[in-house]
Amino acid sequence: MKINVSDIIEQPGASIPFSETGSIEPLADGNEDIMLPAPFTVEGVATSTGEGVYVQANVKGTVRLTCSRCLSSFDLMVEFDCEGRFVSDPDVPMSDEEDDIESFALVGEYCVLDDMVQHELLLNIPMKPLCKPECKGFCEVCGANLNEEPCQCDAPGTQATLFGRKLLEALEERGKDNGSSKEEDLQV
Ligand SMILES: [Zn+2]
Ligand SMILES: [Zn+2]
Repeated sequence: MKINVSDIIEQPGASIPFSETGSIEPLADGNEDIMLPAPFTVEGVATSTGEGVYVQANVKGTVRLTCSRCLSSFDLMVEFDCEGRFVSDPDVPMSDEEDDIESFALVGEYCVLDDMVQHELLLNIPMKPLCKPECKGFCEVCGANLNEEPCQCDAPGTQATLFGRKLLEALEERGKDNGSSKEEDLQV
């Protein structure tokens, strides 16, 4: 998604409004790509600064996330404001004091909005996403997805603990046997 700023780029102070709808590249977040299944809408104003173009925008879109409790994928609507400075070489530090504004690449006479949207989007995605606030997740005992069906384990917490203790006892017993004679175990 990009905007043509050829009309203002030679006139510092000149600005143009824009409204673009289109797809944004998937986000690479750590080892997982976050899919952006629906078009994004980016509306705002681009202003020529002489050195480049300053863009302020409101972004609306949809992000496909994985629920941190039940591992199902779900779509989350997001809306946020963002700003960025578009210059031909974004790696050159700016002389003025607007240091907290990120710089992005001005490609020819176009501001390519994807990087700016992705940068701000990452800050607007919850660290531990939930498909719904009351997501029940999985049963600790039988592994059923409790959002889809209640399981037969009436008190998952206590049963899991009890099961865990039995398992531990059994392993300890086997450990003792193994210590005394391994050959007997093989014959069984
Ligand atoms: Zn969930
Ligand atoms: Zn269960």
